[in-house]
Parts: sequence; structure tokens; C-alpha cells
Amino acid sequence: MAPASSPAHILVVEDEAVIADAIASRLRSEGYNVTVASDGPEAVAAEDEVRPDLIVLDLNLPGFDGIEVCRRVQGHRRVPVIMLTARDDETDMLIGLGVGADDFMTKPFSPRELVARIKAVLRRAEHSAGPSLESGAIQIDPKTRQVTLSGKPVHLTPTEFDLVRSLAEADGGVLTRDQLLAMVWGYRDGSGPRTVDSHVRSVRRKLGDEIIRTIHGVGYAFGSGSQVVDEEGENV
Ligand code: CA
Repeated sequence: MAPASSPAHILVVEDEAVIADAIASRLRSEGYNVTVASDGPEAVAAEDEVRPDLIVLDLNLPGFDGIEVCRRVQGHRRVPVIMLTARDDETDMLIGLGVGADDFMTKPFSPRELVARIKAVLRRAEHSAGPSLESGAIQIDPKTRQVTLSGKPVHLTPTEFDLVRSLAEADGGVLTRDQLLAMVWGYRDGSGPRTVDSHVRSVRRKLGDEIIRTIHGVGYAFGSGSQVVDEEGENV
């Protein structure tokens, strides 16, 4: 079934022709417009030319790799990226580096799962308006997706931004890792809780430890100025 109105344009970057063809034909059968590129330089040129709504980007590419493609593309335009990796530890490494990808998938994966992830990422990209949120020295603008700390802009990856925003919008309420996975990543899977934890760590590195409180055995809550403290001054 074709998506409503004008179908999204997806750039598939993959040097293994068999995989690229399989992904492209599945996406076309779902009603998407698809452009395929097979190396780093070709990916950057194609992005500039077709202005895709989303990029499915293999990490290991000839020319230069997916990290460099992401850097060059995100440098001039915000475009959602789903990064394909060969191993789980590559995904952990990329999250640690704060690469600007919205989601990661380890090969091999089912085309059905890729389509589900694409839909979730596109939905998140659309859902980007809303009032600005403030807490202590931190200001979050959902419209520009800009976060400032004491008036200074802080660069967050798209996923880090969505994590902070989801917690801030919960208004001090606690969100479990499963809830965060569903809200931020749009899916549930076994390796998920670890993904949430690594992103929480990288957000704390950028915005300070107080930004997110760990609620042991439950999940996370937005910290900073809005946190509730009891009479002893302890977080509750
Ligand atoms: Ca490859």
C-alpha cells in the first residue's frame, strides 16, 4: 500500500548489490521512491541531488564510510538516517561516538523490520513541532530541535534530542526503558535497554549528570531544575 500524499523518497546506500537490490525492491513495493548509491562519495552526491526524506546507510562503504557520509550530509541539512552495521559492537561504538543516526540495524535483518523502522523514524521526523521546554539552565526547542545549556547551544544527535525531549515532556514523571524505547526508537527489542542506557550516558556527558535522574529498578526521569526534592534535599 502506498503511503498517503506524496511518497517519501529514500536513499539506500549499500555497496553489496544483492542487499541494495533487495532493500530497494522491498521499499518500492511499499510505495516509496528509492534512489540507490553504492559508495560514500556517490551517497553524498545523491543526497544533494534528490534531497531524500530518509537515508538507509551502510557503515562500511568504499570511498569513505557511513560515519563520514553522515557528517557531510548532516553538516548542511537535517535528514533522518538509519545506519546498517555488520556487528552489534559496531552499533555500540557508533552510539558512543554520537554519530547522527536516528536508528541502527545489525545485518542480517528482515526487510519487514527495516520497513517498520523507516516508518517509525519518518513519524518522529514529522512530529517535530511543540512548545519550547525549560528546566533550570536547559532550554529545549522542539521546533528547531536546538538545546541550550546556560544560553549556549549544545549539539545533540537526533536520538539524544528525542530522548531528552521525551523525558522533559513527561514533566518529572518516570519513564521505563521500554517506554523510552517505544517513544524514542519506535520499537521494542531484546537489546533495547542497553541502547537506552548508552544514550543516557552520552546525554549526561553533554548536559551534565543532573539532566537525567536514574530511578533504580524503574527507569529514568528528567532531572535538572524541575526535580522534586524531599526535606533532606535528596532526590525523590
Ligand atoms: Ca558494506
